[in-house]
This record gives sequence, structure tokens and C-alpha cells, in this order.
Amino acid sequence: MRIRPFDFKVADSLADALKQLDQTGPDARLIAGGTDLVLNLKKKTVQPKVIISLHLLKDLECIEEKNDVIHIGALAKHADLAIHPILEKHASILCQAVGLIGSWQIRNAGTIGGNICNASPAADSAPPLLVLDADVVVAGLKGDRIIPVTSFFTGPGQTVMEPNEILKEIRFKPSVNPSAGCYLKLRRRKAVDISLVGVAFQAQTDATGKNIEKVGIALGGVAPTPIRVPEAESCFKGISIDKAFEKIKLCAQASVEAAKPIDDLRASADYKRTIVNVFVQRCAQQVLTELKIPMLKKIEGDL
Ligand SMILES: Cc1cc2nc3c(=O)[nH]c(=O)nc-3n(C[C@H](O)[C@H](O)[C@H](O)COP(=O)(O)OP(=O)(O)OC[C@H]3O[C@@H](n4cnc5c(N)ncnc54)[C@H](O)[C@@H]3O)c2cc1C
Repeated sequence: MRIRPFDFKVADSLADALKQLDQTGPDARLIAGGTDLVLNLKKKTVQPKVIISLHLLKDLECIEEKNDVIHIGALAKHADLAIHPILEKHASILCQAVGLIGSWQIRNAGTIGGNICNASPAADSAPPLLVLDADVVVAGLKGDRIIPVTSFFTGPGQTVMEPNEILKEIRFKPSVNPSAGCYLKLRRRKAVDISLVGVAFQAQTDATGKNIEKVGIALGGVAPTPIRVPEAESCFKGISIDKAFEKIKLCAQASVEAAKPIDDLRASADYKRTIVNVFVQRCAQQVLTELKIPMLKKIEGDL
């Protein structure tokens, strides 16, 4: 498959990238790792006249915690995110999910910004970002816009970003109370395959560590965009961890009802419903068990 010729430009700063993007108009495309874009060029689903590379913008590769907020630059690569100590400590669900993306080669080139700007309904980083209540920061010539990830995706391959904007960073507040998360994805092959269904389940307790304070459940690959299922999350509201174990089946059923999966090339709606049901139960079981361990250790110590 031959790629149509294009001009290749390299931006040396974010301001330069914004200027070049604005000057070229709709004929321009940004490239980060290129793992999605190059395929789309080959398939001719996009045919830009100009490609602007962001690879010199090293500031956008950062992963850091500042003033109790975790900042992830749009150009941070999946391979770095998957083993980053700040994320392992506060958002292990994101490490789990990006660690399952493609192969080593894809994770070494692919960026989190590219993953969400490409806006595949099955993008693996999206469900964890949804349950972490993350925001994205989008830069434009008139300044930055902060957009919750919950309102970022508008359809397959579509987001609320304007063509002359650039995703700068993703950020979220880590939980101060004990928290745990689990991401499971179903794929046809064991490696290098996008997910048929991805389930993210994140929970945090109150300060005592005994009661569930907040639960986030998000699904990828079942609807035109990655979605949260608040109807299912509410099954756990304000109850103890022990009681929460009893609600797992109810929550899984509520997730299936809220998800309204669609038939597509990769799987039928019925099959996706079954997977959502099973994966929500498995994720919940794992997360609640992880949250319960400190309580069990304390009881053991008291004996
Ligand atoms: C073999 C293979 C396996 C894969 N497996 C998976 C998988 O398991 N799970 C999964 O989720 N994905 C998978 N992917 C898809 C892809 O690797 C990811 O989506 C990756 O994160 C894309 O990032 P990138 O930096 O390569 O994006 P690019 O290809 O450079 O860009 C993707 C799109 O986003 C735009 N863009 C990039 N950065 C920005 C920015 N900062 N601001 C605005 N727009 C921007 C580009 O213009 C382009 O339209 C796979 C791809 C391949 C080829």
C-alpha cells in the first residue's frame, strides 16, 4: 500500500506546532508515535498534505506529581507509563491497561495522547482515565482548555478537539484514601491485538479503610465511545467492603444493562454483554479483595 506524498515538518515547540497547524489548516495532521497515523495513511482514511511531527517537544513526555495532581504529558509513551513509580503507586489501573497495548515495539513508540486523540472506542487507556476522573488539557492559539475525559469523546475517531488544537497533558488527582483498580481486556490473540471489550474498575475507601467511598466503572469496545456506567457504580455507594462483595453480581448486571453493547465486526452485542458481566465481576472481586487485605492484616496483628 503506497502512501500519498506529503510535506513533513518538525515543530520545535508547542507554540510552533500550534502556529504551523493553524497556518496549514485542515490539510495538516500531527504525528506523535505514528502507530495509528501511519496505518491510516496506508489505508488512505486520512490523506494530509502536511504532517507535523511533535517528537522534539520533550516537555510533553513528562510524568510527574505537582501540588497533589498527577500530570502526564501527551507524548508520554506506553512503555514508560506502564512502569512509572508514581503511576504504579497512585494509578496502577493505568499501568495495567497501557502495559497490554500492542507489543513492545508499539508501546515504545505509541503515546497516551495519540491513543486518546485517535479516539478508538476500544482504546485501552481510555477506560482507566475515565474511572480516575481525569481531565485533558488542550492547547490552542487562544489559550488552554480543560476538558473532563468523560466529555472528550464524541464518536468513533472523534473528540471535542478543534483541528487547530493540540492535546498537551492529562491530569488527575490521586486518592488520599486507600484505593485499588483493575483493568481486564478481552482480545482474540494473546498479543498485539486491540480489545474486543475492556473493563476498568476503580474503588476507594473512606479514611477508616472499611467503607467504600467511591467506585468508577468504565467500558471500552461496547459503545461508539468508551463509557462510564454510573448506574452500576451506585450499587456500592456508602457500604462496607464486606457488604460490597455481596453486591458484585448486581453491579455486573447493572453494567450490562447500562452498556447497551453494539454488534460490530469484532463481536456480537450478546457476546460483549456476557464478557462485560464476567469481567466486571472479576475486576470487582480483585479490587475489593485488595482493599480488604489491610483490614485482615490489622485483625491478624490484633490477635
Ligand atoms: C500492531 C498494533 C497494535 C495495537 N494495539 C493496540 C492495543 O492493544 N490497544 C490500543 O489501545 N491501541 C493499540 N494500537 C493503536 C496505537 O498503537 C495506539 O492508539 C497509540 O497509543 C497511538 O499513539 P501514537 O503516538 O502512535 O499516535 P499517532 O499515530 O502519532 O497519532 C494518532 C492520532 O492522534 C493525533 N495526535 C497524536 N498526538 C496528538 C496530540 N498531542 N494532540 C492532538 N492530536 C494528536 C494524530 O494526528 C493522529 O490522528 C495498536 C496499533 C498497532 C499498529
